Amino acid sequence: MPTINAATGPIQTADLGRTLMHEHVFTVETEMAEYAPELAWNGTREDRILEAIRKLTDLKALGIDTFVDMNVLGLGRSIPDIVAVAEKVDMNIVLATGVYPQHGLPGPIAMRTPGKTPTGKLDDVLADLFIRDIRDGIAGTSVKAALIKGYTDKPLVTPVIDRCLRAVAFAHRETGVPINTHTDPNAGAGLEQLRVFAEEGVDLTRVVIGHSGDTLDLDYLRRIMDQGATIASDRFGLYFRDMPVMQQRVEVIATLVNQGYGDRIVLGHDTHCYADYDFPGGVISRETVPDWVHTHLVEQVLPALRAQGLAEEQIDQMLIGTPRRIFEMQGSY
Ligand SMILES: [Zn+2]
Repeated sequence: MPTINAATGPIQTADLGRTLMHEHVFTVETEMAEYAPELAWNGTREDRILEAIRKLTDLKALGIDTFVDMNVLGLGRSIPDIVAVAEKVDMNIVLATGVYPQHGLPGPIAMRTPGKTPTGKLDDVLADLFIRDIRDGIAGTSVKAALIKGYTDKPLVTPVIDRCLRAVAFAHRETGVPINTHTDPNAGAGLEQLRVFAEEGVDLTRVVIGHSGDTLDLDYLRRIMDQGATIASDRFGLYFRDMPVMQQRVEVIATLVNQGYGDRIVLGHDTHCYADYDFPGGVISRETVPDWVHTHLVEQVLPALRAQGLAEEQIDQMLIGTPRRIFEMQGSY
C-alpha cells in the first residue's frame, strides 16, 4: 500500500479521501511573530491554535479528510504551529516544501550561485533544502514534506524564478514527490512552468498547476491539461475585486469535465484558518471576501457543480480520485 508523509506521520494514500489540494493552516510572518506577536496573531498564538482546531474539526464533519498545506519558506510557515493543530484534529494535514520568492530569495540562498556536480547534476543549495525537507524533515523537525511548491507570477520566468523552477524539478525527480504550483494564470504562468519542467525532464502528469481557476480562458487551461498536467481550481471563495466569482469558476469546470478533462482537475480554496493579514477591517478580510473559508466548497461550490449537471462520481474524481493518483505516482526517475 503506498504511503505519504503527513504532519503527524505516514498515512496510506487509500486514506486520503476527500482532499483539498491547496490550503493553509496559518500564514504568519515568522519575524513578526517574534517581534510583535500580538499583531502577528491578532491576539495570542494559543487562541489562534484553538480556533484552527475548531475550524478543521468542523471541516472534517463536513466530509473533508485531507488538507494540503501549501505554506513554504517565504510565506510565513512554522512547523510547530501546524503540528500543534494537526495533533488535535482527525484530518490528514499534508505539508509542502518549496520557496515563495515574491520578494526574491533569502540572502543565504540568493548569494550561493547554483552550479553542476562533476557528474553533471544540479548543484544548488535550494534543491538540497527541498530534498532535506522531504527525506529528513522540515526546519530541523521530523515532519516531512510530501510535495514541492513552484512559483511563477506576473513577471513570469525571471532568472530567480528560473532557478527556483529548476530546483523544484530536480528535487522532484530525486525524491518522486509531486509538484503543485502558484501561478498567475492570466499572465500564462502555468504554461511557462510546464516549459521549464519539460526541459528538466519532468513527467508532466506529476504536476499540478495551481490557481488555474483564476482564469476563464478555456484554451489556456486545455493547453495545460493536453500536456498531461492537472489544473487546480483552488481559490474558491477568493472573489476579490475583478477575480472570477463562484458561478464563473463552476461553469469553467463543468465545461471542461464535459469535454473529457474531468480526471485532470483538483479543487481547493487557498484560504487559511488564520493569516496575519486577515483581521477585521483589513483589505482582505471576512468583510471583503466573506466566502473565503474552508467550508465554502462543501456548502456552496459542490451544490453549484451538481446544479451544472455534474454527477457524484465526477465530483469524487476531483476530490478523491485525482489527488490520490497524484500522490501515488512515486519514485525517483
Ligand atoms: Zn496558497
